[in-house]
Amino acid sequence: MTELLQYLPPVRGKIEAHVPLRDITYLHVGGKAEVFFEPADSDDLINFLRKRPAVVPITVLGAGSNVLIRDGGVPGVVIHLGDWFKRIFKEGVTFEVGGGVLVADFAENAAQQGVSGFEFLSTMPGTMGGGIPINAGCFGRNMKDILLEIEVVDFQGHVHWVPAKKIGLTYRKSAMPNDWIILRAWVCGSVLAPSLILRTMDELRETRVTQQPTGCYTAGSTFKNPEGKNAWELISAVGLRGVHHGGASVSEKHVNFLLNDNHATAEDLETLGEMIREKVLKKTGVDLEWEIVRLGTKTPTVTDWARLISQEERRDEAL
Ligand SMILES: Cc1cc2nc3c(=O)[nH]c(=O)nc-3n(C[C@H](O)[C@H](O)[C@H](O)COP(=O)(O)OP(=O)(O)OC[C@H]3O[C@@H](n4cnc5c(N)ncnc54)[C@H](O)[C@@H]3O)c2cc1C
Repeated sequence: MTELLQYLPPVRGKIEAHVPLRDITYLHVGGKAEVFFEPADSDDLINFLRKRPAVVPITVLGAGSNVLIRDGGVPGVVIHLGDWFKRIFKEGVTFEVGGGVLVADFAENAAQQGVSGFEFLSTMPGTMGGGIPINAGCFGRNMKDILLEIEVVDFQGHVHWVPAKKIGLTYRKSAMPNDWIILRAWVCGSVLAPSLILRTMDELRETRVTQQPTGCYTAGSTFKNPEGKNAWELISAVGLRGVHHGGASVSEKHVNFLLNDNHATAEDLETLGEMIREKVLKKTGVDLEWEIVRLGTKTPTVTDWARLISQEERRDEAL
């Protein structure tokens, strides 16, 4: 079998084979990225996407706060937006925010500059790029409420500028195609004294600490709230608070949070999640939908890239 790295185009950024992903995700489980690529800048990323063999799968990873990486790892290339994508520019009350910027850092930056509207982001982990596809939010505010426009590159390397109203942001989902990588976002707020904004942010953070587990390996809410219902109420109703499976458990404090509290595997967490879904479905008739994005394969895969890529080349020549 052949190493994927040798079939990929040269890049200026960091590219490595067999990179463990558990340490860079909040659940702290899972296998390796077959190849991990941190582009030097957007041109590096675009060039890579245009020249890579199309059969090679692409996965994007932000801060890893809403993903469960399966134990077999992620085949193909995992793209992670590094420092160049962490820039913030301000013009009036509008900000251009890089796809790799942590939303909490952005909220702090905007607060210091006297722009309000982003306070809710100060309590959330994750990047701007990771929050938009699921219209992330809390305390009654979502990405939809602040977003003006996004710049994306698709997996073929074509760049698009798209107004927020065209990406269908609704509760924890969007109509964005799966092959879009968010490079930059433009968001808008309003003027307010920094001291008032910072006070609100402190209050929101305090509220969160009282309601949710902190200082543990978790990816936040496991399931989306079904229309007109709360996932946590349904899970409580089937008596699963604090239940363990392998090294995973259902949080005592917030039952919609799964914890890796004793060297869990991804399999432990996913099985526990599926057990919850099954019990809730049986008792209430509600089919819970995963909010956590599960990536990769359960067991390691070995791909014959040489064969797949030469097949693709022959197909291209025949066209
Ligand atoms: C303690 C805790 C509390 C949380 N509270 C909330 C909350 O209140 N509200 C809420 O909505 N979420 C919450 N979450 C979930 C999570 O923080 C958000 O969903 C966050 O927006 C995910 O961003 P990320 O950068 O970590 O994305 P990741 O977890 O890395 O990825 C999530 C998804 O986004 C995709 N993605 C990542 N970057 C990009 C990009 N640049 N372009 C396109 N797609 C991309 C990935 O492919 C993946 O499908 C919480 C998580 C934790 C751990």
